[in-house]
Amino acid sequence: MSMAEQRVSFREEMYEALKREWQELLDEEFFLPLLSLSPATSLQKTAEQILEFLLLMLEQNISMNLSAIKEPRDVMRLHILDSFTILPFLDAELAKEAETGFRFLDLGTGAGFPGVPIKLVRPGLHVYLVDALAKRLHFIERSLRKIGAGDPWTIYHARAEQMGREKQHREQYDFVAARAVARLATLLEYALPLVRVGGVFCAMKGRVEEEQKEAERAAKLLGAELEKADRFVLPGTGQDRSLLIYRKVAPSPRKYPRSNAQIKKKPL
Ligand code: SAH
Repeated sequence: MSMAEQRVSFREEMYEALKREWQELLDEEFFLPLLSLSPATSLQKTAEQILEFLLLMLEQNISMNLSAIKEPRDVMRLHILDSFTILPFLDAELAKEAETGFRFLDLGTGAGFPGVPIKLVRPGLHVYLVDALAKRLHFIERSLRKIGAGDPWTIYHARAEQMGREKQHREQYDFVAARAVARLATLLEYALPLVRVGGVFCAMKGRVEEEQKEAERAAKLLGAELEKADRFVLPGTGQDRSLLIYRKVAPSPRKYPRSNAQIKKKPL
């Protein structure tokens, strides 16, 4: 088989396998209610965009380190379903505001999780995708164009602790989410300065009891309160998950976020 033929057959096999995994999710009772698509959003189109995005990721992953998760079932559950678990919390905030003007930020998005799946099921939402690694963002940008994700979305190449000191970003976001970026106390220092007073930071974690205790002081120092800790098993994976919802109740003191070196040396 030629290289081109190999690529085509990889794509076709992956597409079929991913489609089966998507169908399995749809067959589960909880899934459509979790998605709760608006009447204006086509399930068919959304599904095609998700499948195409995953294909692009898996193809790109052969030459670029995007994700350690490669099996179709894992990709569908550990990337897509896992990203969707924040929807109820995001929707609760969206219900309080007009969707236009609402800013959702995915901090340390990597190959696009949770930000890309969220964008695809809430197409009107302004999603900001931030990462310190430019090549991953280039992949996301190309892919979002290819699959025809509608405006508005913004890709931003920066370190969180640098953004948090810039006027146009500091305390400007209604909802910030982060998955697999840093230990909780450090993550709070990255994320909370970006959240507007009254807004939410959602930390997407596995088992988290110890980190959560250790981060109590950091949350307080940065002006946030833990509003909810939702623990569950990610369906069909046996893996523990925790969504920690922090509400920003006061502005973060000027001295935070500190420099990366200081954060590393002495986590809050
Ligand atoms: N959220 C994705 C990626 C996790 S890997 C997922 O769950 O699949 C962690 C990502 O966070 C990497 O892409 C890394 O570049 C980024 N990152 C780590 N620290 C960061 C910081 N201080 N500011 C911005 N991005 C950061």
